[in-house]
This record gives sequence, C-alpha cells and structure tokens, in this order.
Amino acid sequence: RAKALAADEEFIPSEKAPLLLNFNENSLGMSDLAKEAVIRCLDGAFRYPDALRSELAEAIAAKFDLNERQVVLGNGSSEIIQATIEAFSFAAQKRVEPVQLIVPDPTFDFAELYASSLGISVVKVPLTQGSLAIDLEAMKAQADGFDGFSIVYLCNPNNPTATITQASVLNPWLHQENSRTAFIVDEAYAEFVTDPAFRSAVENVKTGSPNVVVTRTFSKIYAMAGLRVGYGLADAKTAAMIRNFVSIDNLNVAGAVAALASLKDEAFFERSLQSTNLARKIVTDTLDELGIRYLPSEANFIFHKIKGEHQLYKERMAQAHVFVGREFAPAVGYSRVTLGTPQEMRAFVRVLKSFRQKDWI
Ligand code: PLP
Repeated sequence: RAKALAADEEFIPSEKAPLLLNFNENSLGMSDLAKEAVIRCLDGAFRYPDALRSELAEAIAAKFDLNERQVVLGNGSSEIIQATIEAFSFAAQKRVEPVQLIVPDPTFDFAELYASSLGISVVKVPLTQGSLAIDLEAMKAQADGFDGFSIVYLCNPNNPTATITQASVLNPWLHQENSRTAFIVDEAYAEFVTDPAFRSAVENVKTGSPNVVVTRTFSKIYAMAGLRVGYGLADAKTAAMIRNFVSIDNLNVAGAVAALASLKDEAFFERSLQSTNLARKIVTDTLDELGIRYLPSEANFIFHKIKGEHQLYKERMAQAHVFVGREFAPAVGYSRVTLGTPQEMRAFVRVLKSFRQKDWI
C-alpha cells in the first residue's frame, strides 16, 4: 500500500498492490488513537457493547448539540438507511397507505435496493441535464402527485457526482409541513464540504422536523469503513421508531471505541481533510491540464468525463492495476474516481496522462 512508502517515494500500482479508487474509502487509514483504542479494548471484548453504545450515542449527541435519544447507532449508515425505510413504510402500511421511495438517478443505490427487497415501488428521477444536479422540483412533483406516503432519499453531497444541493433550494421542501413525505438526507460526505451554500439537514432535525432523518458515517472522513459505524439523527420519536428496526447490539466494541477515539482526535480530522484536499488538487490540476471536464467535488471523489465506453476505460485502468468506480447510468460518459492519498493520486494521474498519450482519454 502507498501508505507504507516513504513520503517522497512513488507508488507504482501492481498486481500485488493495486490502486483501489473504486469504493470511496479513505486510504489514509484510521486515526492512530482509534487503532490504539481498538487494541486496548480487546481484553474487555467478551462483554456486550451496551455501555460503549451509550457513551458513543452521548458523544455524537454532544457533537451536534442534540439529545442522545435523537441518535440511532447503525452498523454503518447503510443500516440506518435500511431501518428508516422499514420504519416509515411499516407505519404507512399500518395506516393502509401505499408507499413509494423517490430517489435521484444516479445516486448511492442502497435505499433503492432495500426498498425493492421490501416490495416498495421506487421512482427514479434523473439528475438535471448538464450540471447533473438533483432535480428537487421533479422529485417534489412525484411526491405531490402520489396518493400515499413518499420516502424521499437525498444524498448531499450526492454520490457519484460529489456535488452538493444548496440549502436555499433544499430547505423550503424540508421545512414544509407534510405528514405524507419523509426525508432521508444522507450526509455520508458532509465533513468534506467547503461550499458555504451547503447546510447540514441536522439544522432541520434541531428545529423539530419529525420527518427528516439525517444519516452520517465514520466510514469516510474517519476512514473506518471496515469497522461499520454509522448513525442517524432525528426527532426523538422518529429515532425511537427507527431503532425498532436496527439489529439490537448492532455495534461491536472495536467499532465503538474507534469511533469514540476518532471523535476526540481533532488533529486526525484535520489531516484527513488536508490529505483529501491535496489529493483532489492533484487530480483536478491534471484534469484541467488535459482539458477533461469534471464536476466540482465536495467529497472524497471526483466525477469526470471520459472518452468512449466506460467499460473499456475501466478495463484499461485495471490493466494498469488501478480500480475506478463503475458506470453510473444514466450519467454515461463519466467516471467516478475516489480520492486516495496524495501519493496514490500522483500514481493515478500518471496513468491518466499515459492514457492521453495513447489517445484513450
Ligand atoms: N451513503 C453514501 C452516500 C455512500 O456513498 C456510502 C458508501 O459508499 C454509504 C452511505 C455507506 O456508508 P456506511 O459505510 O456508513 O454504511
């Protein structure tokens, strides 16, 4: 892995050490304090995680100035997305109300996958042409025109585009009193955002919107994807409803202590941001130099144009031992590349430039 190399050494991707830029992980690796906490917790890991769960819920509540009853812990934020869909659809079904899920297209597809497995119909609303923004107006029209309960999944910043939906356009809908619409605002990448037009929907939770659930994760900025810790923030009653649908004792002690240590490690948080920002600059400088269009990235990945078939581009990258994201139809002609360490991204741009010499990109 690039991390094991000296800072000035080049990372050369190989079969044994491929460059994994396909799943929006944070290859900086987790905080040293979190690693130490994991090692230290092992002697006590024969006990159930109840005490640590409470401690973590309290720490998260304090971070957002919320009550701990407003925090739902998840086995990753994925579990919160799943449980929220289950909770709202179960409640609607009890009222004998039809339910639908409305999602932008493309977006992170777990909401769609969970809803489909529950037999909930999914309405996919294409991103706007050109800027590939979430088309809130069209999504709202779908909710308003539906004779039943709508669960709206909004990913902010969106995956795969890495772009934000501005608070000025999102807030009027989130604020609207409407007992027939619930929102899951997925803020998995919120910590990376610098654009002041973004505002976290946690503000809506604070102002008492019972139908807004915000999901967050330790997988991205804190580089803890493999330890599976995420959470949801909602009105206390809504949070209790969602809690009924998560697996009991869903956190393990290693994840819990790592999350607690990460929250305290402000230096790591800064380093993680700085590293991602530098990685982003390395890539955007090269994309600019090569005249390749990309969307403004507010997350740890970039959605950029490619030439020709995505499958061929992906295969050629794989031959160079670089793994990039899949194609995100209907946004064809684009590729999503995760921002690894600066060293890793220097390797990525070297491959990209070699592709340009071959006229592949
Ligand atoms: N939400 C979005 C938008 C993601 O891109 C991802 C993972 O890539 C997740 C949620 C899943 O995160 P977690 O690891 O917390 O389940």
